[in-house]
Amino acid sequence: MQPVQVFPKQVFSRISVIANAREALTGLNFAEREHSRFCVVQNLRRVMKIKNYSLPRNRSIEMMSTTISTNLNCNMACKHCYIQPELLRIKEYIDEATYRRCVEVIIEAFHLDDSVSYLHLDVLGGEATLMPYEFWERNLPWTLDRVSELNNAGVQTEFTFCSNLMWRDDRYLDLLRAHRHHPSMDIAISFEGQESGRFGRNMAIFPKFLKRIEALGDCNMLNLVLVMGQGIIDLGPLYIIDTFVKRGITDVTCDMVFPWGSGKACCRGFLARQRRVD
Ligand code: SF4
Repeated sequence: MQPVQVFPKQVFSRISVIANAREALTGLNFAEREHSRFCVVQNLRRVMKIKNYSLPRNRSIEMMSTTISTNLNCNMACKHCYIQPELLRIKEYIDEATYRRCVEVIIEAFHLDDSVSYLHLDVLGGEATLMPYEFWERNLPWTLDRVSELNNAGVQTEFTFCSNLMWRDDRYLDLLRAHRHHPSMDIAISFEGQESGRFGRNMAIFPKFLKRIEALGDCNMLNLVLVMGQGIIDLGPLYIIDTFVKRGITDVTCDMVFPWGSGKACCRGFLARQRRVD
């Protein structure tokens, strides 16, 4: 009986390129390793006959923006949430090996795309601090090390940790404070008006939210992400500045209401109101 050829020749030569590269990478400093990785990628492209992927270079921002969603569960139930309500109660979360491989694949993909020069990595849930504390205790510094390595090699890279600040495990405060001065770390927290239901009846948990912002304190970047519903519009910009800047918010950005999950119904509501105004 003839042996079945499981791998075509091309795959074997790809494997040997990788194996040779692994040996060659041992004992090199980071810049040399990055250069070697770049050569490996070029070799892979040649062997696999892949053309460099490159969009037309007329972009205003040459950024690769990526997001890893580590878990879907959340302890809030915002009306505009981008996740289907039933999925917010799912307890499964990403395992450590998959998370790390995702980060590595993102970095590899970034190196493959000639049209981008700047990498942004977001992590979010659901609520990311509902992950077991030990996951982020290991993987937050690990991720920041990858981000620092890229920056040290001249690749502008930023990392955003998104949270609603309603962690259940108080050790998260110390963990975030331990890394808050990392020059490429941004902690992003969303803020919405009363109509979102995010802060409970009569904004009951809003004081806790403010206290946690104060406790995070002086961060490299503490970004208040405004979800632009009617409540935020009614509060107005001066309220946002007066309430948050003195508590440590360094940046304010606006986010859209995503037309997915329960946000879909919210968007329909906005559109209906808009039509009435028209
Ligand atoms: S919008 Fe964010 S904080 Fe609100 S329910 Fe969805 S994941 Fe949770």
